[in-house]
Amino acid sequence: MESMIEVRELTKYYGPTLAINRISFDVAAGEIVGFLGPNGAGKTTTLKLLAGYLAPTSGTARINGYDCFQASIQVRRSLGYLPETVPLYPDLTVTQFLQFAARAKGVESRGRKAEIDRVIEDCGLKEVRHSLNGSLSKGYRQRVGLAQALLNRPPLLILDEPTIGLDPSQIVEIRQLIKKLAGDHTVILSSHILPEVSQLCQRVIIINRGQIVASDTPDNLSRQLGRGSRINLTVKGPQSQVLSAFRSLAGVKEASAAGEDRYQVQGVNGDDLRPELARLVVERGWQLLELKAQEFTLEEVFLDLVTEEEAQES
Ligand code: ATP
Repeated sequence: MESMIEVRELTKYYGPTLAINRISFDVAAGEIVGFLGPNGAGKTTTLKLLAGYLAPTSGTARINGYDCFQASIQVRRSLGYLPETVPLYPDLTVTQFLQFAARAKGVESRGRKAEIDRVIEDCGLKEVRHSLNGSLSKGYRQRVGLAQALLNRPPLLILDEPTIGLDPSQIVEIRQLIKKLAGDHTVILSSHILPEVSQLCQRVIIINRGQIVASDTPDNLSRQLGRGSRINLTVKGPQSQVLSAFRSLAGVKEASAAGEDRYQVQGVNGDDLRPELARLVVERGWQLLELKAQEFTLEEVFLDLVTEEEAQES
């Protein structure tokens, strides 16, 4: 598949502050990628560089083959960007603002009204189209931000923390809207909310302190990077014998008792140990009452990666 976004060794300093440090990644056309990281990790900086609003210190970012900074005009025309805080002119109505944005984005005057009506419809802005931007709730402001990003049907959407500051029902609405848009766009969105990214995205890039620490599907991250599998069992049998039998099984890193008849077994890698464990219990003539693989949540994986890196540094 062809790369829509190609980032190589991208680095950005703000004065002495290193915000992103030699990051490289690709996004294929049609992909929905989540950029996940704690505050200050470098998400906004990366997205601004992609959108052509900042010059990198070194390295390159390309969109559809165009250098994001050198060819920022071509680049900006092929993407829709929702910044962290949308600069809405408070004294313009929603429609006036979108007219202004459409002109700036090069939407031809003939098709402009139809295009504005389309994004107003898609973003659920009909009832506020004549309201002043300054009077809008945070949820509506975010929708106006999305609407301006969608003008001119850009193939790529760059969304910086699209649900930040919204109340729970607005969050649900904006996520549904993004899901709907995902069908015909390539999307890269940033978030510090793990469930959000795993719900919306096919791939997650985890960034911490300006560096990429992982990139995979949400499922694979939960499964593989959690340092092997973890299995919970309930077995009726003599505890010390059960434990030593589990510990002697190939592929087992650790086995511990977790209460009466309850055990937890940790695998060395991602292999599924369940068939072997079941066979062992049955062979010994014990009773197997429960056998369940426990998956690592993205939270655990994330903490694991971040803590590991901090441990290496100190
Ligand atoms: P957040 O979720 O808090 O927005 P982020 O992951 O988007 O975080 P960035 O905003 O990209 O992170 O910031 C990365 C680093 O660069 C931080 O250390 C931040 O303090 C610093 N930084 C960002 N913008 C500037 C600026 N204009 N001048 C100086 N330092 C900056």
